Amino acid sequence: MKIAILSRNPNLYSTRRLVEAAESRGHEVHVIDVLRCYMNITSMKPEVHYKGQNLTGFDAVIPRIGASVTFYGTAVLRQFEMMHVYPVNESVAISRSRDKLRALQLLSRKGLGLPVTGFAHRPDDVDDLIKMVGGAPLVIKLLEGTQGIGVVLAETKAAAESVIEAFMGMKANILVQEFIKEAGGADIRCLVVGDKVVAAMKRQGKEGEFRSNIHRGGTANLIRITPEERSTAVRAARTMGLNVCGVDLLRSNHGPVVMEVNSSPGLQGIEGATGKDIASMIIDFTEKNAKSGKTKTRGRG
Ligand code: ADP
Repeated sequence: MKIAILSRNPNLYSTRRLVEAAESRGHEVHVIDVLRCYMNITSMKPEVHYKGQNLTGFDAVIPRIGASVTFYGTAVLRQFEMMHVYPVNESVAISRSRDKLRALQLLSRKGLGLPVTGFAHRPDDVDDLIKMVGGAPLVIKLLEGTQGIGVVLAETKAAAESVIEAFMGMKANILVQEFIKEAGGADIRCLVVGDKVVAAMKRQGKEGEFRSNIHRGGTANLIRITPEERSTAVRAARTMGLNVCGVDLLRSNHGPVVMEVNSSPGLQGIEGATGKDIASMIIDFTEKNAKSGKTKTRGRG
């Protein structure tokens, strides 16, 4: 097969591993920086050009689109879909999961476990917003944050009010969420490929830190997940329409709750913690599923 990997940097661990896995199975692989692609918007004959070349003849595209390039990256991916190239994750599914509010609304519609969550932009009644999600302690998040930045734990109602007011002053969209104390500063990353959780790890925040992000000093370990956690992760992936993703769960008193569904999960942490060859599993999935024009949306929507 001829496979395109949409990635800004061929030296990233995940990109390198995917290239390695695909080449060892005899595929031709091209790493393409989406920001350097340019496209024509012509009826019936969509093209993507890259470094002076018309990209043709691809059987599959594996998007690894970073959060900061979602807008342009999904447009390039959509163009590949219009050219009938099989996308491992569809552009619409990536956009869905990147929009945190849209993702939470879709997950709640399917009845998946979620922390009690409110969202707001400029509420006139902060008191009522706090009451709506069950009162302090509360976690308040900037919608646009990543890697745990802009995620604040407010232990008291007064602290919650002042954080909400400060974020409101920045004209930011915010999430106000039940604090899952019993998670003990840990979350579970489930790696989903196709309809299966193929690997899972537990990330534990450093001492005294409620955020488990590795970037904030957390550590990763192998974990056995329960059947309920497994089915929650698979349902969350399916709800987003993602074939390959990382589903982050917290263990709460009311069962597993979904934090986030990540459409470009990093492979380094999870391959390191589990010793599994996830890159080959993604290539294997691609081999089995890549067919021309086989998308749910064909770039529509
Ligand atoms: P980001 O997307 O920036 O990583 P998250 O919303 O995933 O932000 O939050 C970062 C971490 O903080 C999570 O992985 C989790 O460990 C912790 N956390 C977030 N929300 C809650 C919550 N409602 N209750 C308990 N811990 C939380």
